[in-house]
Amino acid sequence: MADYRTHVITSGALGAVYGLSSTVLLGFTGIQGALAGVLTGVSGMLPDLDSDSGRPIREVFGLLAAVGPIVMMERLEHWGGSREAALLLAVILYVAIRYVASGILQLTCVHRGMFHSLPALVIAAEIAFLAYLNDSTAVRGLMAVGVALGFGSHLVLDEIYSVTWNGGRLQLKSSAGSATKLLGPSWPVNFLVFGIALTLGYAVLLDGGFTAPPAVERPLTRATKTPAQNGWERVAGNPSHAPQTEAEESEAAAEDEADLALEPSRWQRTRR
Ligand SMILES: [Zn+2]
Repeated sequence: MADYRTHVITSGALGAVYGLSSTVLLGFTGIQGALAGVLTGVSGMLPDLDSDSGRPIREVFGLLAAVGPIVMMERLEHWGGSREAALLLAVILYVAIRYVASGILQLTCVHRGMFHSLPALVIAAEIAFLAYLNDSTAVRGLMAVGVALGFGSHLVLDEIYSVTWNGGRLQLKSSAGSATKLLGPSWPVNFLVFGIALTLGYAVLLDGGFTAPPAVERPLTRATKTPAQNGWERVAGNPSHAPQTEAEESEAAAEDEADLALEPSRWQRTRR
């Protein structure tokens, strides 16, 4: 597998190209392009979050803990209700990623487990889309694709490094194919990872406005019925039949009364 330095350089360069081309070719602002490029660069480190302790992994967690809350600022403000609450949440999130999450991961994860997999790439991109709140779905997509690119560059690089020249012949190391896998050896973990990917995918569809939430079938109520359906019948111009008092007595919905208010004299209660 490629070392930390190689990953940093590759995803960093990829991020620069991505940020620049999204600004020049796709019409995003320079700031949006730069942020997307940074996310690409940082994401090139993400798959190694499950690696053993050491300087590189501490740096990756430090980076993620710093960049994560910044990217989520809009979302945190939405959750917290004010800028101060968002700042407090950002600090909590920093500590949670930097110390709590890193501790849990190092206790539970096998290096080169499902973190080095294509579903993990999808999950990382989905989280980026959901975490980066913006009015424009295109901008959120830009960030998510940036994360996917960086993450993907890491997986591809690990695969490239599993091929070696040996006496003029290409040889595959035992790690070949393990970085760009779809499934791992543990089925409970596979179910968990795919479950997370699908759930977040559905959240992206809803949150990004790609699909409307399932419409709740509402039965016709007094409020949604037309006055005629509620028992009112149009009377040919006889103002003396104006049913104002009857309307007050009945428990007709406010909408009905609004309807009546338009032309009260032309409606008359015909059945109770
Ligand atoms: Zn790796």
